[in-house]
Amino acid sequence: MLIDLSRVLSENARIEELTVEIETDHIDTGHSSYRINHKSPFVLKLTNIGIRKILMEVQADISLAIPCDRCLEEVITKFQVNISKEIDLSETEPDPLDEKDFIVGESLDLDRLIHEEILADVPMKVLCKPDCLGICKKCGANRNFTDCGCDSAALDPRMSKILDVFNEYKEV
Ligand SMILES: [Zn+2]
Ligand SMILES: [Zn+2]
Repeated sequence: MLIDLSRVLSENARIEELTVEIETDHIDTGHSSYRINHKSPFVLKLTNIGIRKILMEVQADISLAIPCDRCLEEVITKFQVNISKEIDLSETEPDPLDEKDFIVGESLDLDRLIHEEILADVPMKVLCKPDCLGICKKCGANRNFTDCGCDSAALDPRMSKILDVFNEYKEV
């Protein structure tokens, strides 16, 4: 969703409060894509704080479905986005340390802004529960739900190949 900033830029001390919503339904981390499970409309507050300067305030609750690191069951993970940023649109030379790629001309790319904020908060690993038993390496069963009965000391397939080779030599 693109938000036009030109009106709030036009008048000193002008305040605009808009009810907005993001359109995107996935968050891409570069190696994974997480489904947005819940998002609700939220209020974006824009305040003109000087010549071509805007204070932007956003509070939003968004939850993502992130697969458990061990068993791959989706874990609904909540994020609270709290943004309070000053944007200076008078800068002609963009500051490389201050990436403002969510500003396009005189518009705010809300989806991009929220995406970047959530991305900074996405944990490396999510577990459905601290003692998740994960997936059986032998049969693929989710061991939180079934006790598949496989030998829990089952070897890594690469390791058992090495043992096969070893056994073949023994037989000769
Ligand atoms: Zn799990
Ligand atoms: Zn099994």
